[in-house]
Amino acid sequence: MSTEKYLSRNVRKLSRSLLWQFFDLANATPNVISLSVGEPDFRTPWHISEEGIYAIEKGRTYYAPSRGLMQLREGIVRYYERRFGVRGYGTDNVLVTVGGSEAIDLICRLVLEEGDECIILDPGYIAYEPSVLLTGATPVYLRLRADNHFKVSPEQLEEVITDRTRMIILNYPSNPTGGVMTREDYEKIVPILKKHDIVTVCDEIYLELTYGSKPCSIASFREIRDQLVIINGFSKAYSMTGWRLGYMLADSKIIDAAVSIHQYSAMGPATPAQFAGIEAISPKSDRDIEEHAEAFLNRRNWLVAKLNRIGLPTAMPEGAFYVFANISGTGLSSYDFCVRLLQEEKVCVIPGTAFGPAGEGFVRISYCYSLEELQTAVDRIEAFLKKL
Ligand code: PMP
Repeated sequence: MSTEKYLSRNVRKLSRSLLWQFFDLANATPNVISLSVGEPDFRTPWHISEEGIYAIEKGRTYYAPSRGLMQLREGIVRYYERRFGVRGYGTDNVLVTVGGSEAIDLICRLVLEEGDECIILDPGYIAYEPSVLLTGATPVYLRLRADNHFKVSPEQLEEVITDRTRMIILNYPSNPTGGVMTREDYEKIVPILKKHDIVTVCDEIYLELTYGSKPCSIASFREIRDQLVIINGFSKAYSMTGWRLGYMLADSKIIDAAVSIHQYSAMGPATPAQFAGIEAISPKSDRDIEEHAEAFLNRRNWLVAKLNRIGLPTAMPEGAFYVFANISGTGLSSYDFCVRLLQEEKVCVIPGTAFGPAGEGFVRISYCYSLEELQTAVDRIEAFLKKL
């Protein structure tokens, strides 16, 4: 008999992500070139790793305070001031989490319950929908449009708000589209969020990877500070995916409530990782971030130009390290395009529909790869397109 019956109703609502299915397929395919992973190909800068190593050597392997090491929380506050001009937060507003992932789960559990609606972006990062579903609340898709560069417009936002809307989860720069919200874009939606008093979560994990315009944190809008929750982490900006280090910035009452879950569930990232984090978040790492961002920018420029040249219309994304290429001209669905590309040319990219129904007609291509790998992959994509 199936053991599914042991699982909770909310858990049974979760489906297996298409993204993971493609990772598995790619892993099972010999000689595949994968442009599927959202993980920088750079090593963690050595001076950061060294701090983690020293922490172990010096026996700093004890429990850290459940909110995170004080020096790390101070560093995070100063970092938001230094890099994004965000003022008015103190260490009481910071919770250090096990990656941004834990923070996403925590804020959903803190705010949502059955009967509530939570607006999520479509296409959007794959963790939001399951995190909402697990609370019993209902995810409501806000369909983003390519012709609006996948930004949230005030009209679209008003359209999806109901009297049940409790929370919205934004993510800019965006995974999967690379879309960015500038200060002017936020100025149009912040009054709406304030008027409806909606808990506003913004996942800013790619904020350092903003090209062209100056990065804008929604935390710089002080008028919504009470209802605002910022999620960020070390994975993308510092190439620290495996260290499992992230954080939440919010009103101190929200942080206190978050601690009441976190101290019994995760308790916190490994203490040596937090010591490495103190080094990472310090001004000493600003140059590393900028060097990595510049490398991504060069790859983006190369990739977008090349994809357009071989016949895949691809808009220039303003942030993160993904392009969202339009494959609708091939006549194939996103899923079929990706399966056939993988089988016939051994290149793995992810169907846009893995990120929500509005992703149909697109594929997500990550440029966390060297220019040589990108070149080989694009040559194969070109050969595939010629056959169609
Ligand atoms: N948010 C977004 C938008 C992401 O793309 C990712 C990683 N793919 C995360 C959060 C989670 O990152 P981590 O848990 O490594 O901090």
